[in-house]
Amino acid sequence: MPTVMELYQLLPKTNCKKCGESTCMAFAVELLSRKKKIQDCTPILEDKFKNQREKLESLLLPSEGAGETGMIVHTELCTGCGNCVVACPVDVANDPGGAAIGCAPTNDKVIFKVVDGKVIASNIRECRRFGKNRVLCYACIDPCPTGAIEFV
Ligand code: SF4
Ligand code: SF4
Ligand code: SF4
Repeated sequence: MPTVMELYQLLPKTNCKKCGESTCMAFAVELLSRKKKIQDCTPILEDKFKNQREKLESLLLPSEGAGETGMIVHTELCTGCGNCVVACPVDVANDPGGAAIGCAPTNDKVIFKVVDGKVIASNIRECRRFGKNRVLCYACIDPCPTGAIEFV
């Protein structure tokens, strides 16, 4: 687990407030608690911060083995809209005849499926955030209108 100071050191440190926080230090606190994501700091998406951004991403990746318990879907928030099903690249790759074209999953290789109006997540080990070639994927979180998906 990185420290707030480690994250802060990698931020632009201009206190520009574009992320909605009053200082880069405040943003680092929010990053660590996963309430904000790296992309919320738009300045760090500039090419000149590429190395710092990559270091931040590697620091914020979940640790190996966290995959089995790393995702929570808050069913009380889920509206069953299906956005996460079609947005997840694993679902799209594993189910070209179903999730990839916005239809009900046709097999059990998908991570998300909607059952009785609520999403159910399974096969979490397939998630791009876990395993050997981990990336900090937000593809399911971003289109969720209610913030029902959380990684812990
Ligand atoms: S947008 Fe980035 S640079 Fe600006 S205050 Fe937030 S963390 Fe700092
Ligand atoms: S983080 Fe990416 S790979 Fe993992 S479940 Fe969400 S969309 Fe799929
Ligand atoms: S995008 Fe969010 S609200 Fe929609 S089905 Fe997925 S978890 Fe539920």
